Amino acid sequence: MKSQVIFTNQVEKALADVVRDIKPGKVIVLTDSNVEQLVIPSLAKVSADIGAAPVISIASGDSNKNLDTAMYCWAELAKLGATRHSLLINIGGGVVTDLGGFVASTFKRGMHCVNIPTTLLGAVDAAVGGKTGVNFNDLKNQIGTFSEPDAVIISTAYFNTLSDTELLSGYAEMIKHALLSSPEAFGRVMRYDIRQAKTDPDGLLSLLEESVKVKIKVVETDPYEKGIRKALNLGHTVGHAFETMALRRQKPIPHGYAVAHGMVVEAILSSMLTDFPSTELHVLASYIRENYGEFAFGCKDYEALIELMQHDKKNDSPDHINFTLLHHAGQAVTDVTIDVDKITAALDIYRDMMGL
Ligand code: NAD
Repeated sequence: MKSQVIFTNQVEKALADVVRDIKPGKVIVLTDSNVEQLVIPSLAKVSADIGAAPVISIASGDSNKNLDTAMYCWAELAKLGATRHSLLINIGGGVVTDLGGFVASTFKRGMHCVNIPTTLLGAVDAAVGGKTGVNFNDLKNQIGTFSEPDAVIISTAYFNTLSDTELLSGYAEMIKHALLSSPEAFGRVMRYDIRQAKTDPDGLLSLLEESVKVKIKVVETDPYEKGIRKALNLGHTVGHAFETMALRRQKPIPHGYAVAHGMVVEAILSSMLTDFPSTELHVLASYIRENYGEFAFGCKDYEALIELMQHDKKNDSPDHINFTLLHHAGQAVTDVTIDVDKITAALDIYRDMMGL
């Protein structure tokens, strides 16, 4: 990857080094309304770069990750006299880094950009890898670019204001990375209690570094998602179906919770089709049940769930659904097409395992 990814709890020092290397004409901060109050004031006190920079603040929440907000940011950048040689520092969760990355990659055909994620999901996933974008026409991430920031500075120092739900949502992506990495990494993630993170920033930082490096390795091999990067979709085919069903019931669940339950169903499919060991399946299912609860559904919901999986953008034919499965922790198998009967059987097993 062309981005420098730095893991540190001394963000101000790392940022000073990055800014010195880039030598931007101007430095501008992009953030959202929550992070502007929770993070920027303390960071501005210790970082001369942040303290001196004008701040563009957007309303928080995924519904604001849209073209109107992007246009507002382009207009603010123009007002501030930004050029291609200016630096936009995105400080916030995935909404700020996705939108800010898109804004920076398109303003004057691309300006410098640094991400400082302030949520666990942002740190482990959204801020790294160069996928930027906004939602459009009520669909997620429809307009965007592949554009890597100059640097990503990853710290656990800002996570103590996140709720347990937000921490667990980000942690689901760390579980996914561990499953893609090795049995040992999977074991480490299963033994860690993410709720301790607020009192253990350094312990979490090293686990996070190991996790983000799994994504970096995959992205380096396949930056444009033509092959192995699809492995990062583990848990997401079923997870997106659960997420949409929850939205339709008007009881939305966090993205990471949907992925966590999706990973259990896809691990069941892996044990049925690609020899994923049943001991690892049971460890995963118990961990998810204990920490994320269950995603409740009955037989009458199968048709709707399978239809949602069929509409997933990764499918070529409606009769077969495309999955990333696991042979074992550390060995993914991409592009496995599975017929509806087997998916129905896996949904039955999920309900049994979760006591539904
Ligand atoms: P988010 O940016 O909306 O942050 C969640 C909430 O936490 C927001 O209200 C935010 O203001 C608040 N927040 C941020 N930092 C905080 C802190 N330190 N303390 C307290 N509150 C804080 O969402 P997210 O969960 O970080 O990320 C989700 C977004 O990321 C989605 O838009 C998703 O599409 C995107 N995403 C992108 C990629 C990618 O590869 N580009 C990958 C995964 C997710």
